[in-house]
Amino acid sequence: MAQQLPPIPISNVDVGQEEIDGVTEVLRSGMLAQGPRVAELEAAFAELHGVAHAVAVNNGTTALVAAMQALDVRPGDEVIVPPFSFIATLNAILEAGGRARFADIGPDYNLDPAAIEPLVNERTKVILPVHLYGLMADMAPIMEVAFRHGVAVVEDAAQSVGATCGGRAAGSFGVGTFSLYGTKNVTCGEGGMITTGDAAIADRLRLLRNQGMRARYQYEIAGHNYRLTDLQAAIVLPQLRRLKTIKEARQANAAALSAGLAGVPGLLVPPVPADREHVWHQYTVRVTPDAVLDRDALSARLTEAGVGNGFYYPRLMHDYDCYRDHPLVAQHSTPFAAQVAGEVISLPVHPGVSASDVDRIVEAVRTALAA
Ligand SMILES: *Cc1c(COP(=O)(O)O)cnc(C)c1O
Repeated sequence: MAQQLPPIPISNVDVGQEEIDGVTEVLRSGMLAQGPRVAELEAAFAELHGVAHAVAVNNGTTALVAAMQALDVRPGDEVIVPPFSFIATLNAILEAGGRARFADIGPDYNLDPAAIEPLVNERTKVILPVHLYGLMADMAPIMEVAFRHGVAVVEDAAQSVGATCGGRAAGSFGVGTFSLYGTKNVTCGEGGMITTGDAAIADRLRLLRNQGMRARYQYEIAGHNYRLTDLQAAIVLPQLRRLKTIKEARQANAAALSAGLAGVPGLLVPPVPADREHVWHQYTVRVTPDAVLDRDALSARLTEAGVGNGFYYPRLMHDYDCYRDHPLVAQHSTPFAAQVAGEVISLPVHPGVSASDVDRIVEAVRTALAA
């Protein structure tokens, strides 16, 4: 009998001695809260994304909430967003007091620029594309619609640190929000980042993050505590320095998976538009109706074969009872997103996936989907 190989996980955390040394140094410094390491991280993050300002916060959800607060989203203001994302995108809109309107996605899994305009009205305040799986949305036409209607853009780049579109980085078009959660490409367990080219917005974000305080006990707006700690920044800094290597490892694995899985009947490998650099937070295929198995059955077969997999995301964000009659959730028909949510399955692509792991993944998928 063939020896059972250990399962290939869908995600893994890769931290080493540099992270350990960085955290130890912060612990010894006696300054554990927001301090010089956070400032250093903000500078590195801003440079990497080609923006003037980066503001660190405690997670990717608060990054979205703070971005909308900084843009002065008020009750009744509408936010146009794709329905196919992690639930944080919707929850952040509601937390900020906005009303969500859903525009359909395209074959790149991202907001379809052509679906935005029919939803724009006098209450529209923000267009919120999500750069899903590490691939940026098609930003040029999105920015064009936003500009024409005088609407702000917030990019949910939680999954797309270091991705580009037309040579420009995620988070450099509108106000960008990032997550440093445990499964993201760069992580400190929990953390977030906001990018902007606008000094006034950056200033407002820094106030919102710290109780609305300009200088000690000088409060200018009603704020919150959204701060990140130096302990966390010390974990992220070495990973940012390694980002090119991390990206290249993911890109090599994705290319090998797509080569190995080409031509499997009923399977669509993820598209990579020519003008965009994909950073492969997830490698996500679609199992179409002409496949011999459906998505759920394929998942079971892969799990049996020791190939980690996941559904990101099995249902549209608002397709849950708690949002069904929510006054701030406008129900629209987004047929393509609904179809895709039933077809997607993600396969391991992270830097811990070796060349022989790729062979195992390809073999397992091909065996399960063989006619
Ligand atoms: C992870 C994620 C978030 C939220 O980030 P947290 O740090 O977990 O709060 C928001 N949007 C998307 C698309 C995400 O993947």
